[in-house]
Amino acid sequence: MYLQGIGPKKADVLKQEIGIVSFEDILYYFPYKYIDRSKIFKIKEIDGNMPYIQLKGKIRQYDSMGEGYSRRLIARFFDDTGSIDLVWFRSIRMIPNMYKLNTEYILFGKPTIFNGRINIAHPELETVDNFFHGEVGIQGQYNTTERMKNAFLHSRAIQKIVTQVLEATIDTIPETLPESIIKRSNTISLDKALRNIHLPISNDMLRQAEFRLKFEELFYLQLNILLVTKYRNRKLGGYYFTKVGDNFNGFYYNNLPFPLTGAQKRVLKEIRQDVNSGKQMNRLLQGDVGSGKTIVALFSMLLALDNGFQSALMAPTEILATQHYETIKQLLDGLNIEVVLLTGSTKKKAREQILPKIKDGTTPIIIGTHALIEDTVDFSNLGMVVIDEQHRFGVAQRSKLWTKNSKIPPHVLVMTATPIPRTLAMTVYGDLDISIIDELPPGRKAIKTIHRYSEKRDKLYDSVRKQLEEGRQVYIVYPLIEESEKIDLKNLSDGFLTTQEIFPEYKVSMVHGKMKPAEKEKEMQLFLSGETQIMVATTVIEVGVNVPNASVMIIENAERFGLSQLHQLRGRVGRGADQSYCILITKYELSETTRRRIAIMTETNDGFIIAEEDLKLRGPGDIDGTQQSGIAFNLKIANLSQDGQVLSLAREIAQEILNEDPELKSPQNTLLIEQLKKNNAKNNQGWFMIS
Ligand code: ADP
Ligand code: MG
Repeated sequence: MYLQGIGPKKADVLKQEIGIVSFEDILYYFPYKYIDRSKIFKIKEIDGNMPYIQLKGKIRQYDSMGEGYSRRLIARFFDDTGSIDLVWFRSIRMIPNMYKLNTEYILFGKPTIFNGRINIAHPELETVDNFFHGEVGIQGQYNTTERMKNAFLHSRAIQKIVTQVLEATIDTIPETLPESIIKRSNTISLDKALRNIHLPISNDMLRQAEFRLKFEELFYLQLNILLVTKYRNRKLGGYYFTKVGDNFNGFYYNNLPFPLTGAQKRVLKEIRQDVNSGKQMNRLLQGDVGSGKTIVALFSMLLALDNGFQSALMAPTEILATQHYETIKQLLDGLNIEVVLLTGSTKKKAREQILPKIKDGTTPIIIGTHALIEDTVDFSNLGMVVIDEQHRFGVAQRSKLWTKNSKIPPHVLVMTATPIPRTLAMTVYGDLDISIIDELPPGRKAIKTIHRYSEKRDKLYDSVRKQLEEGRQVYIVYPLIEESEKIDLKNLSDGFLTTQEIFPEYKVSMVHGKMKPAEKEKEMQLFLSGETQIMVATTVIEVGVNVPNASVMIIENAERFGLSQLHQLRGRVGRGADQSYCILITKYELSETTRRRIAIMTETNDGFIIAEEDLKLRGPGDIDGTQQSGIAFNLKIANLSQDGQVLSLAREIAQEILNEDPELKSPQNTLLIEQLKKNNAKNNQGWFMIS
């Protein structure tokens, strides 16, 4: 098959840039948005804040300006209400030949503000005749790359290709959902959906097409997840922890320093049910920073011990692992339960003592970092694995810990302080059961969050000094982005010096990722013990660190942090009974989304709301943990921040199908198996292959 206008060169660009090699690929290259081509704006209506629009008018004049890289072509475009500049940075010589002066064109482009003036860069123009021969009404817009544009494969060209393919495939597009599911979900055929997603005949058909394609995508994702979960439950089984014994009770009655919150009790109950079910526990424990997840982890490990099993607690950083170790050792004081710490910087000599005791089962509770999953670490009978701050670990690392027990995989409790929106949880963590601690320990005061511009920081220092005078401690955090590490480190050490100058009467610690672990540790300890009162740091302190006396968190260049990161950082304060403050310092000029981020931070402390907003602002691809999650995440059309209802329906129907036909053996479901295999092969995402 040949497509008109697609020679080998263009075909090659399509392949290399967006991976399109077949008709199917083309049909699944969906528009990313739609424009109502029937609407034509007037130039005087334009502001710098509009999406793609259409204008009708003439070019009166061309000027080329600038030299070298800043060389550009400017055209003056007029309609009967005014004029606007069109700008081209490429194809400068060809444009005046393509678009003639004083000829009426329909222009299509996005107005932007450049040097204080509104203009439109690289617009598409069509003569009025051509335009009205083409389709009017709703038109899809396709994403194109720089290289594609240079090869004249802009959105309009893609649309022409798609149109040809749709004509060539009339009555030959195979259906990918069984008839019964099409009926149950009350949706349209694939053929109809593909036609209308590219060339919608009406707004209503476009919505139906979107629904069908989103539903199908989410349906197969959920079917896969449900099958994997079932497979694991059936095949793998799990250890029974039937006893609640001396260790659990001894700690509960003698050492627990505070009553558990209702939420902590509920979660512990859920865990106890899991480990006594004969299945392997795979539970995700979500709870905002400071909600008291550590105690839950400890109880789970004591439960394992009461049943004769070892436990491992894995944390993403050395600081955090060490702090868990210190906390847990202290909590277990006097109970005669051995706890060891194993990290990358555990000395060879110490390792030689620790490892054999892990191997022969003498040590029941092992706390550490990635060092725990190294091949040199053997357990005698690992029965419980707790992973703190899940989003730092990938699924591969998670499952590596499972294999540390050769007989039956240990129970797994994954803890995260980054609340995950419901839709994400159902997909990324769809194979995990979820527990939520939605209650903070009593007596906590909500953190007050304040936004200040960098220029006006002086006043800020007075109130910070007041906190210090009252004996509180202060964090000052600087961003650290890999590419500009040198600049960032300079910012950090400048910040350190400035802080010393501003607060000469207080001692300042500094911690960053490039320090040796021992050095880092020493500085952290100084701050923890209160010998230093101010901690200047990069985000290495983000995860888990607990200094209840700290009451002020100052975040410099807050515009460079994402929402969930800001929330995590803020969670470092507000851990004691005192009123705490989070101060977000930004430059004056902020983009709209950054402003929104900062506003959300000042409005709410609720991690779940923040997670939902984060998902909306960034899209699921950027949310922590989704990339490493190992699950099909290249959703083509469904959007987890908007399609919660479609997702629920997809999961519900997938569950119904599996209830009726657990092995998908009936003839009407063979199509499902075929599609699952096809999707799995395409995504190559490391799911278990079914069958
Ligand atoms: P996170 O969920 O962020 O890991 P932690 O487990 O570090 O929270 O707990 C935060 C602080 O709250 C710790 O100092 C801990 O001792 C304290 N804490 C935990 N549970 C309770 C409780 N039920 N009552 C009072 N304080 C608690
Ligand atoms: Mg924690």
